[in-house]
Amino acid sequence: CGVFGVYGMEGAAALTALGLHALQHRGQEAAGITSWDGDQFHTKRGNGHVAENFSDEATIRQLPGSASIGHTRYATTGETAMRNVQPLFAELSSGGFAVAHNGNISNALHLRKALNKRGSIFQSTSDTEVIIHLVATSSYRPLLDRIIDALKQVEGAYSLACLTPEGLIACRDPLGIRPLVLGRLEDAHIVASETVALDVVGATFIRQVEPGEMLVINEKGVRSIRPFAERAARPCIFEHVYFSRPDSFLDGSSVYEVRKNIGRELALENAVDADVVIPVPDSGNPAALGYSQESGIPFEQGIIRSHYVGRTFIQPGQGIRDLSVKLKHNANRHIVSGKRIVLVDDSIVRGTTSLKIVQMMRDAGAKEVHMRIASPPTRHPCFYGVDTPERSKLLAAQMDVERMRDFIKVDSLAFISVDGLYRALGEDGRDTSRPQYCDACFTGAYPTSLTDQEEEAGPD
Ligand code: 5GP
Ligand code: SF4
Ligand code: MG
Repeated sequence: CGVFGVYGMEGAAALTALGLHALQHRGQEAAGITSWDGDQFHTKRGNGHVAENFSDEATIRQLPGSASIGHTRYATTGETAMRNVQPLFAELSSGGFAVAHNGNISNALHLRKALNKRGSIFQSTSDTEVIIHLVATSSYRPLLDRIIDALKQVEGAYSLACLTPEGLIACRDPLGIRPLVLGRLEDAHIVASETVALDVVGATFIRQVEPGEMLVINEKGVRSIRPFAERAARPCIFEHVYFSRPDSFLDGSSVYEVRKNIGRELALENAVDADVVIPVPDSGNPAALGYSQESGIPFEQGIIRSHYVGRTFIQPGQGIRDLSVKLKHNANRHIVSGKRIVLVDDSIVRGTTSLKIVQMMRDAGAKEVHMRIASPPTRHPCFYGVDTPERSKLLAAQMDVERMRDFIKVDSLAFISVDGLYRALGEDGRDTSRPQYCDACFTGAYPTSLTDQEEEAGPD
């Protein structure tokens, strides 16, 4: 998901809509904005893209005020019903409380059961709602202490933007699993999932919100609080590989440059004699460029992606549905025909994309197809806000690399090593005793306890 928040500028909701546009890639299922006009909260939420919900002036006019938060939703838990669309809002004894959350709480079900027993009535199936109930039922008094009390009971990943009568409260979980940055536009302060959202609204980047840091932003300025015991950070390594936009900076590094580095490492680790390097667009583009630069094999756009494939496309019948694969990606036959190609993509999840693209390359006359993947095999699900499916649907959890090669029908298949990925990020390698990142979907080393998973597996 994407989160965005503004404090201190009239028309904050319009700015938030713009910021959410830049975070659309982090969630395409739904979008929402809550504003505060100094007296009242106003919320508008809807299914679909930001542009479908927040393009007209009349809508923005219904969201007055100089403070606002927004959210783009990518459903990882909870159904796709409207009641799960964020920002979530509740009227607490301290006043209104709106929250936009990126990440996933790995003990949400456990907490929900306990809250239910104590009489809490949930309105959604979203993991985020437990935060609201924990704040509402906290025995602490000042709102800030109640939020801190709530977050101390939560495990997993959260980058939050909360709108309260006391201001905009932003917070990043102690491990900093999901990103969050702070920026400035004239007298206003802005928080956003990624720096690209600051660029788009014309704000300047100040710094990242540190793991475990809470910011209280109001008319007095920005106050930083460190409510949690200090721990070594474990930001999500997959943000660098796939999730963040290439024009963002994560923890001081250009996402684009890191992806090119991954391609270079991939070429060093897994060279192949070939005529042309072809990215699977758009996610494979920078890594393919890096692979090409390192190997000296020319980079060509052998697959063209259509940007007009909408969610709204109604697929009339099975025959057409099979053809519709080619609506998103089509082979550039002129480049592919008769060539030995290196295909570069960011990841293999279920394997459906690879299977189709490889067949497309063969149909276009490729002589050899060598697949290179800019992440290690995805063998474990993510419980922190990226929608990797259960293990049984992960190709790399079911097969070794040789069987995967056979399954997607390529002449060779190779993934970057875990250490190679860390090298691309400027590390010497993965520090096995104290890993610098969360890499659990590749290694199975989850950096938090997974209470809900353990309770589901064990006897009740
Ligand atoms: P597969 O087709 O193997 O299931 O998925 C791999 C493709 O999906 C890759 O091209 C990659 O760019 C994209 N992808 C990787 N991770 C994610 C994710 O978390 N969500 C979505 N929507 N796509 C992903
Ligand atoms: Fe990121 Fe993978 Fe960790 Fe999820 S499990 S937070 S996708 S590195
Ligand atoms: Mg892709």
